[in-house]
Amino acid sequence: MPWHPPAARPRAPVKVLLLFVIPCIAMTAPARFYPIGTPGQPWGAAEKAEWRARQTVQRSYAADVVTVIDRLRGRFDVESYGELDYGTDGRYPLFAVRSRNWNPDLPVMLVTGGVHGYETSGVHGALQFLEQRAADYAGRANLLVVPCVSPWGYERIHRWNADAIDPNRSFRDNSPAQESAALIRLVAPIRDLARMHIDLHETTDTDESEFRPALAARDGKPFEPGEIPDGFYLVDDSGNPQPDFQRAVIAAVEQVTHIAPADANGEIIGSPVVAPGVIEYAFKPLGLCAGVTNARYTTTTEVYPDSPKATPAQCNDAQVAAVCAAIDYALAHA
Ligand SMILES: [Zn+2]
Repeated sequence: MPWHPPAARPRAPVKVLLLFVIPCIAMTAPARFYPIGTPGQPWGAAEKAEWRARQTVQRSYAADVVTVIDRLRGRFDVESYGELDYGTDGRYPLFAVRSRNWNPDLPVMLVTGGVHGYETSGVHGALQFLEQRAADYAGRANLLVVPCVSPWGYERIHRWNADAIDPNRSFRDNSPAQESAALIRLVAPIRDLARMHIDLHETTDTDESEFRPALAARDGKPFEPGEIPDGFYLVDDSGNPQPDFQRAVIAAVEQVTHIAPADANGEIIGSPVVAPGVIEYAFKPLGLCAGVTNARYTTTTEVYPDSPKATPAQCNDAQVAAVCAAIDYALAHA
Protein backbone atom coordinates (compact mmCIF):
# COMPACT_ATOMS: atom_id res chain seq x y z
CA MET A 1 0.00 0.00 0.00
CA PRO A 2 1.36 3.42 -0.86
CA TRP A 3 2.00 5.79 1.98
CA HIS A 4 1.85 9.59 1.87
CA PRO A 5 5.15 11.14 0.71
CA PRO A 6 7.22 12.25 3.70
CA ALA A 7 7.08 15.88 2.55
CA ALA A 8 3.35 15.94 3.22
CA ARG A 9 3.79 15.52 6.97
CA PRO A 10 5.86 17.15 9.69
CA ARG A 11 9.15 15.50 10.62
CA ALA A 12 8.74 13.21 13.59
CA PRO A 13 11.49 13.12 16.22
CA VAL A 14 13.63 9.98 16.11
CA LYS A 15 12.25 8.61 19.39
CA VAL A 16 8.67 8.78 18.11
CA LEU A 17 9.68 7.11 14.87
CA LEU A 18 11.28 4.25 16.79
CA LEU A 19 8.09 3.74 18.77
CA PHE A 20 6.24 3.21 15.50
CA VAL A 21 8.95 1.24 13.73
CA ILE A 22 9.64 -1.37 16.42
CA PRO A 23 6.08 -2.70 16.71
CA CYS A 24 5.81 -2.70 12.90
CA ILE A 25 8.78 -5.05 12.64
CA ALA A 26 7.39 -7.30 15.34
CA MET A 27 4.04 -7.60 13.62
CA THR A 28 3.26 -9.77 10.65
CA ALA A 29 2.81 -8.32 7.18
CA PRO A 30 -0.35 -6.21 7.31
CA ALA A 31 0.46 -3.89 10.22
CA ARG A 32 1.58 -0.54 8.83
CA PHE A 33 0.27 2.95 8.46
CA TYR A 34 -3.08 3.12 6.79
CA PRO A 35 -2.72 4.91 3.45
CA ILE A 36 -5.37 7.55 4.15
CA GLY A 37 -5.13 10.48 6.56
CA THR A 38 -2.52 11.56 9.08
CA PRO A 39 -1.70 9.19 11.95
CA GLY A 40 -3.20 10.49 15.19
CA GLN A 41 -5.75 12.71 13.46
CA PRO A 42 -9.34 11.58 12.92
CA TRP A 43 -10.55 11.69 9.33
CA GLY A 44 -12.55 14.63 8.08
CA ALA A 45 -14.74 14.83 4.99
CA ALA A 46 -11.75 14.84 2.60
CA GLU A 47 -10.25 11.63 4.02
CA LYS A 48 -13.65 9.90 4.01
CA ALA A 49 -14.14 10.91 0.37
CA GLU A 50 -10.67 9.59 -0.46
CA TRP A 51 -11.51 6.33 1.27
CA ARG A 52 -14.85 6.03 -0.54
CA ALA A 53 -13.24 6.66 -3.94
CA ARG A 54 -11.04 3.62 -3.35
CA GLN A 55 -13.99 1.27 -2.85
CA THR A 56 -14.95 -0.55 -6.03
CA VAL A 57 -17.82 -2.87 -6.86
CA GLN A 58 -16.59 -6.46 -6.73
CA ARG A 59 -19.84 -8.41 -6.81
CA SER A 60 -23.52 -7.85 -7.50
CA TYR A 61 -26.23 -7.54 -4.87
CA ALA A 62 -28.88 -7.82 -7.59
CA ALA A 63 -27.40 -11.01 -9.07
CA ASP A 64 -26.30 -12.74 -5.84
CA VAL A 65 -29.00 -11.72 -3.38
CA VAL A 66 -32.08 -10.17 -4.99
CA THR A 67 -32.50 -13.01 -7.50
CA VAL A 68 -32.50 -15.54 -4.64
CA ILE A 69 -35.03 -13.46 -2.70
CA ASP A 70 -37.20 -13.30 -5.83
CA ARG A 71 -37.20 -17.09 -6.02
CA LEU A 72 -38.62 -17.19 -2.47
CA ARG A 73 -41.68 -15.07 -3.32
CA GLY A 74 -43.83 -18.13 -4.01
CA ARG A 75 -43.32 -19.49 -0.49
CA PHE A 76 -42.75 -16.43 1.71
CA ASP A 77 -43.88 -12.82 1.97
CA VAL A 78 -41.15 -10.54 0.65
CA GLU A 79 -41.19 -6.95 1.78
CA SER A 80 -39.10 -4.01 0.64
CA TYR A 81 -38.45 -2.12 3.86
CA GLY A 82 -36.55 0.81 2.48
CA GLU A 83 -33.87 1.90 0.08
CA LEU A 84 -30.33 3.10 0.57
CA ASP A 85 -29.50 6.17 -1.49
CA TYR A 86 -25.78 6.54 -2.14
CA GLY A 87 -25.88 9.06 -4.98
CA THR A 88 -23.47 8.16 -7.74
CA ASP A 89 -22.93 4.73 -6.13
CA GLY A 90 -26.60 3.99 -6.73
CA ARG A 91 -29.72 3.05 -4.83
CA TYR A 92 -30.18 -0.25 -3.05
CA PRO A 93 -33.63 -1.66 -2.22
CA LEU A 94 -33.70 -3.44 1.14
CA PHE A 95 -35.59 -6.73 1.52
CA ALA A 96 -37.05 -8.70 4.40
CA VAL A 97 -38.61 -12.16 4.11
CA ARG A 98 -41.47 -13.20 6.40
CA SER A 99 -43.35 -16.38 7.16
CA ARG A 100 -46.54 -16.58 5.15
CA ASN A 101 -49.68 -16.61 7.34
CA TRP A 102 -48.03 -14.61 10.15
CA ASN A 103 -49.85 -15.75 13.30
CA PRO A 104 -49.90 -13.43 16.33
CA ASP A 105 -50.13 -16.49 18.61
CA LEU A 106 -46.73 -17.79 17.51
CA PRO A 107 -43.31 -16.62 18.75
CA VAL A 108 -41.32 -14.28 16.52
CA MET A 109 -37.80 -15.27 15.45
CA LEU A 110 -35.55 -12.67 13.83
CA VAL A 111 -32.57 -13.57 11.63
CA THR A 112 -30.28 -10.87 10.23
CA GLY A 113 -27.32 -11.23 7.88
CA GLY A 114 -24.98 -8.92 6.03
CA VAL A 115 -25.01 -6.15 8.63
CA HIS A 116 -21.35 -6.25 7.67
CA GLY A 117 -21.67 -6.59 3.92
CA TYR A 118 -18.29 -8.24 3.42
CA GLU A 119 -19.15 -11.16 5.69
CA THR A 120 -20.29 -13.43 2.89
CA SER A 121 -21.63 -16.43 4.78
CA GLY A 122 -23.86 -14.16 6.86
CA VAL A 123 -25.73 -13.20 3.69
CA HIS A 124 -25.63 -16.57 1.96
CA GLY A 125 -26.26 -18.50 5.17
CA ALA A 126 -29.46 -16.50 5.72
CA LEU A 127 -30.53 -17.15 2.12
CA GLN A 128 -29.69 -20.85 2.42
CA PHE A 129 -31.73 -21.07 5.63
CA LEU A 130 -34.68 -19.55 3.79
CA GLU A 131 -34.33 -21.87 0.81
CA GLN A 132 -33.71 -25.10 2.72
CA ARG A 133 -34.98 -24.92 6.29
CA ALA A 134 -37.35 -22.02 6.95
CA ALA A 135 -40.43 -23.90 5.68
CA ASP A 136 -39.89 -26.48 8.46
CA TYR A 137 -41.06 -23.85 10.96
CA ALA A 138 -44.41 -23.08 9.29
CA GLY A 139 -47.14 -23.13 11.91
CA ARG A 140 -44.61 -23.08 14.76
CA ALA A 141 -42.92 -19.68 14.52
CA ASN A 142 -43.18 -16.36 12.75
CA LEU A 143 -39.86 -15.87 10.94
CA LEU A 144 -38.53 -12.48 9.93
CA VAL A 145 -35.31 -12.85 7.95
CA VAL A 146 -33.25 -9.95 6.62
CA PRO A 147 -30.47 -11.55 4.55
CA CYS A 148 -28.46 -8.48 3.55
CA VAL A 149 -28.72 -5.40 5.74
CA SER A 150 -25.78 -3.63 4.02
CA PRO A 151 -25.88 -4.16 0.25
CA TRP A 152 -23.45 -1.31 -0.55
CA GLY A 153 -20.89 -3.07 1.67
CA TYR A 154 -21.80 -6.46 0.17
CA GLU A 155 -20.88 -5.26 -3.33
CA ARG A 156 -17.62 -3.62 -2.22
CA ILE A 157 -16.73 -6.37 0.28
CA HIS A 158 -16.47 -3.79 3.01
CA ARG A 159 -17.36 -3.54 6.67
CA TRP A 160 -18.51 0.08 6.61
CA ASN A 161 -21.23 1.83 4.67
CA ALA A 162 -20.52 4.49 2.05
CA ASP A 163 -20.18 7.14 4.77
CA ALA A 164 -17.33 5.21 6.46
CA ILE A 165 -19.70 4.25 9.29
CA ASP A 166 -19.90 0.76 10.80
CA PRO A 167 -23.60 -0.17 10.75
CA ASN A 168 -22.95 -2.65 13.56
CA ARG A 169 -22.05 0.12 15.98
CA SER A 170 -25.01 2.25 14.91
CA PHE A 171 -28.17 0.54 16.19
CA ARG A 172 -29.35 3.45 18.28
CA ASP A 173 -31.89 6.28 18.12
CA ASN A 174 -31.16 8.76 15.34
CA SER A 175 -28.72 6.30 13.81
CA PRO A 176 -26.14 7.87 11.51
CA ALA A 177 -26.21 4.71 9.33
CA GLN A 178 -29.05 4.38 6.80
CA GLU A 179 -28.77 0.60 7.02
CA SER A 180 -29.26 0.53 10.79
CA ALA A 181 -32.03 3.14 10.77
CA ALA A 182 -34.00 1.15 8.17
CA LEU A 183 -33.70 -2.09 10.16
CA ILE A 184 -34.70 -0.34 13.39
CA ARG A 185 -37.87 0.89 11.62
CA LEU A 186 -38.58 -2.58 10.22
CA VAL A 187 -38.34 -4.36 13.58
CA ALA A 188 -40.04 -1.66 15.69
CA PRO A 189 -43.41 -3.51 15.68
CA ILE A 190 -41.75 -6.75 16.91
CA ARG A 191 -39.23 -5.14 19.25
CA ASP A 192 -40.99 -6.50 22.34
CA LEU A 193 -42.53 -9.55 20.62
CA ALA A 194 -39.42 -11.25 19.29
CA ARG A 195 -38.37 -14.24 21.35
CA MET A 196 -35.07 -14.84 19.54
CA HIS A 197 -32.69 -12.83 17.36
CA ILE A 198 -29.60 -14.29 15.72
CA ASP A 199 -27.30 -11.94 13.81
CA LEU A 200 -24.97 -13.67 11.33
CA HIS A 201 -21.36 -12.49 11.04
CA GLU A 202 -17.84 -13.58 10.17
CA THR A 203 -14.42 -12.81 11.61
CA THR A 204 -11.95 -12.65 8.71
CA ASP A 205 -8.24 -12.17 8.13
CA THR A 206 -9.07 -8.82 6.51
CA ASP A 207 -10.34 -7.62 9.89
CA GLU A 208 -6.71 -7.53 10.99
CA SER A 209 -5.09 -6.56 7.66
CA GLU A 210 -7.57 -3.88 6.54
CA PHE A 211 -10.60 -3.07 8.66
CA ARG A 212 -9.02 -2.63 12.10
CA PRO A 213 -6.18 -0.51 10.68
CA ALA A 214 -8.78 1.53 8.78
CA LEU A 215 -10.80 2.02 11.98
CA ALA A 216 -7.73 3.18 13.90
CA ALA A 217 -6.82 5.58 11.07
CA ARG A 218 -10.38 6.92 10.75
CA ASP A 219 -10.55 7.67 14.47
CA GLY A 220 -6.98 8.99 14.76
CA LYS A 221 -5.95 6.20 17.14
CA PRO A 222 -2.94 3.87 17.12
CA PHE A 223 -3.51 0.45 15.61
CA GLU A 224 -3.12 -2.29 18.21
CA PRO A 225 -2.54 -5.62 16.49
CA GLY A 226 -4.66 -8.57 17.56
CA GLU A 227 -5.16 -12.23 16.78
CA ILE A 228 -7.77 -13.75 14.48
CA PRO A 229 -9.14 -16.96 16.02
CA ASP A 230 -9.30 -20.07 13.82
CA GLY A 231 -12.85 -21.30 14.17
CA PHE A 232 -16.45 -20.44 14.89
CA TYR A 233 -17.53 -18.53 17.98
CA LEU A 234 -20.55 -16.72 19.37
CA VAL A 235 -21.01 -13.37 21.03
CA ASP A 236 -23.56 -13.34 23.86
CA ASP A 237 -25.04 -10.19 25.40
CA SER A 238 -23.33 -9.26 28.68
CA GLY A 239 -26.51 -7.32 29.53
CA ASN A 240 -28.67 -10.45 29.09
CA PRO A 241 -26.43 -13.52 29.12
CA GLN A 242 -28.09 -16.79 28.08
CA PRO A 243 -25.37 -19.42 28.48
CA ASP A 244 -27.61 -22.46 27.88
CA PHE A 245 -28.87 -20.93 24.64
CA GLN A 246 -25.32 -20.22 23.46
CA ARG A 247 -24.25 -23.75 24.41
CA ALA A 248 -27.09 -25.23 22.32
CA VAL A 249 -26.00 -23.21 19.27
CA ILE A 250 -22.33 -24.17 19.70
CA ALA A 251 -23.30 -27.85 20.02
CA ALA A 252 -25.11 -27.70 16.68
CA VAL A 253 -22.37 -25.79 14.86
CA GLU A 254 -19.56 -28.06 16.03
CA GLN A 255 -21.20 -30.84 14.02
CA VAL A 256 -20.46 -28.74 10.93
CA THR A 257 -17.22 -26.84 11.60
CA HIS A 258 -14.61 -26.41 14.32
CA ILE A 259 -15.07 -24.07 17.27
CA ALA A 260 -12.43 -21.38 17.94
CA PRO A 261 -10.13 -22.10 20.88
CA ALA A 262 -9.26 -19.44 23.43
CA ASP A 263 -5.88 -17.75 22.89
CA ALA A 264 -3.00 -17.83 25.38
CA ASN A 265 -4.79 -15.20 27.49
CA GLY A 266 -8.01 -17.21 27.62
CA GLU A 267 -9.58 -14.73 25.21
CA ILE A 268 -11.05 -14.47 21.74
CA ILE A 269 -10.46 -11.09 20.00
CA GLY A 270 -9.59 -9.54 23.34
CA SER A 271 -12.63 -10.71 25.33
CA PRO A 272 -12.61 -13.46 27.97
CA VAL A 273 -13.98 -16.81 26.80
CA VAL A 274 -16.91 -17.46 29.16
CA ALA A 275 -17.71 -20.93 27.75
CA PRO A 276 -16.24 -22.92 24.84
CA GLY A 277 -16.58 -20.67 21.79
CA VAL A 278 -18.49 -17.92 23.59
CA ILE A 279 -17.53 -14.36 24.48
CA GLU A 280 -19.75 -11.48 25.62
CA TYR A 281 -20.31 -7.92 24.40
CA ALA A 282 -22.75 -5.31 25.71
CA PHE A 283 -25.16 -5.34 22.77
CA LYS A 284 -27.28 -2.26 23.39
CA PRO A 285 -24.62 0.15 24.72
CA LEU A 286 -22.38 -0.74 21.73
CA GLY A 287 -25.18 -0.21 19.22
CA LEU A 288 -24.94 -3.79 17.96
CA CYS A 289 -27.58 -5.26 15.69
CA ALA A 290 -28.17 -8.19 18.05
CA GLY A 291 -29.53 -5.66 20.57
CA VAL A 292 -32.07 -4.17 18.15
CA THR A 293 -34.99 -6.01 19.84
CA ASN A 294 -35.78 -6.93 23.42
CA ALA A 295 -35.72 -10.65 22.59
CA ARG A 296 -34.86 -12.99 25.46
CA TYR A 297 -32.50 -15.12 23.36
CA THR A 298 -29.93 -13.21 21.33
CA THR A 299 -26.58 -14.05 19.82
CA THR A 300 -24.11 -13.06 17.13
CA THR A 301 -22.43 -15.78 15.07
CA GLU A 302 -18.81 -15.40 13.99
CA VAL A 303 -17.81 -17.80 11.22
CA TYR A 304 -14.13 -17.91 10.19
CA PRO A 305 -14.07 -18.30 6.40
CA ASP A 306 -10.28 -18.00 6.02
CA SER A 307 -9.54 -21.21 7.90
CA PRO A 308 -7.66 -23.82 5.87
CA LYS A 309 -10.10 -26.25 7.49
CA ALA A 310 -13.33 -24.60 6.25
CA THR A 311 -14.89 -24.31 2.80
CA PRO A 312 -17.41 -21.60 1.78
CA ALA A 313 -20.14 -24.27 1.78
CA GLN A 314 -19.20 -25.26 5.33
CA CYS A 315 -19.38 -21.62 6.40
CA ASN A 316 -22.91 -21.30 5.02
CA ASP A 317 -23.84 -24.63 6.61
CA ALA A 318 -22.48 -23.40 9.96
CA GLN A 319 -24.69 -20.31 9.76
CA VAL A 320 -27.75 -22.44 8.91
CA ALA A 321 -26.99 -24.87 11.75
CA ALA A 322 -26.71 -21.91 14.14
CA VAL A 323 -30.01 -20.42 12.98
CA CYS A 324 -31.90 -23.72 13.30
CA ALA A 325 -30.43 -24.47 16.73
CA ALA A 326 -31.30 -20.97 17.93
CA ILE A 327 -34.90 -21.27 16.75
CA ASP A 328 -35.25 -24.79 18.13
CA TYR A 329 -33.95 -23.70 21.53
CA ALA A 330 -36.24 -20.66 21.62
CA LEU A 331 -39.25 -22.83 20.65
CA ALA A 332 -38.44 -25.26 23.45
CA HIS A 333 -37.91 -22.52 26.08
CA ALA A 334 -40.91 -20.21 26.07
ZN1 LIG B 1 -19.44 -8.59 11.42
